[in-house]
Amino acid sequence: AVGLLATGSMAACGDDSGSDSGSSSGGSSVGKVGVILPDTASSQRWGSDDPKFLKAAFDAAGVAVDIQNAQGDKSQFQTIADGMISSGVKVLMIVNLDSGTGKAVLDKAKAAGIATIDYDRLTLNGGANYYVSFDNVAVGKLQGEGLVKCLTDMKASKPVVAELNGSPTDNNATLFKEGYDSVLKPKYDAGEYVKGPDQSVPDWDNAQGGTIFEQMLTEKKDIKGVLAANDGLGNAVISVLKKQGLNGKVPVTGQDATVQGLQNILAGDQCMTVYKAIKQEADAAADLAISLAKGEKKEVSQSINDPESKAAVPSVLLTPTAIFKDSVKDVVADGFVTKDQLCTGDFTKLC
Ligand code: BGC
Repeated sequence: AVGLLATGSMAACGDDSGSDSGSSSGGSSVGKVGVILPDTASSQRWGSDDPKFLKAAFDAAGVAVDIQNAQGDKSQFQTIADGMISSGVKVLMIVNLDSGTGKAVLDKAKAAGIATIDYDRLTLNGGANYYVSFDNVAVGKLQGEGLVKCLTDMKASKPVVAELNGSPTDNNATLFKEGYDSVLKPKYDAGEYVKGPDQSVPDWDNAQGGTIFEQMLTEKKDIKGVLAANDGLGNAVISVLKKQGLNGKVPVTGQDATVQGLQNILAGDQCMTVYKAIKQEADAAADLAISLAKGEKKEVSQSINDPESKAAVPSVLLTPTAIFKDSVKDVVADGFVTKDQLCTGDFTKLC
């Protein structure tokens, strides 16, 4: 595969949704790395944070990388993969749009002798060489515990809790739910909380999330807490609550520490978010990809069991952090968002 390394050509015809860094900087024995991100709508991260940190890591190592985004389109995902495979990448790193299409891409890559990494989302039955992510059950636990903390602070009595889950085709959404249900179910069982509506949002689509929550609230007017699986869905819920003057009275969770999510927390409309240091995740994945691109094999200390193939996938799993109003500043201190991004318009007085 090294001999096939396409240098100038990829940069020249690179699509503008991706960033192609220094195609000639890889050196002759180091292969190029292809990265496919899923969309730009389901979370701020895919369009800005991940590509930024990944590119920086590869650039620092002088390894050529082609980062593209499938914009939520499964056939586009395959087309990008085909292009990367025929351009001779030595390593392919993907965030799948669902396990089925992800597996098809991984299979093709493997057949071409390309090393593979599942980035953030595990491709079920995909057989990637590595998986780099956060401990996603821990992410869900923080969401569940965060909601409990906010409901306790509000002295809510027997609150009806609604759950708005992530995409049913994202294995992470399953893990997040496993985490928050491990906190909430004992509360339902003990009669401390009342289990309200519980629904998944296809493709994490924020607009659909809003529609689904609007229906939930119409059918169950006394919803007193919402476990929303990420900041985008949280914001969709908050928009619906605002129409009823309920924002700030019904705690809502989130994930990703997006600018919007953090602003909703500062405004008192969102209870918490989960900060996942994307730089750490990008650095860990780039580190593995760079070794593979150099033909080296890296040992990692963890592994995760693929629940479908039952295979152990060598993994790097990072630790997430819960963020509440008083710790928004920690996300700024970590350099993930700047004060300027956060403290704009109406939010200036809250910063
Ligand atoms: C990621 C989250 C993200 C969600 C929607 C999940 O797989 O882990 O960070 O919010 O996808 O894009």
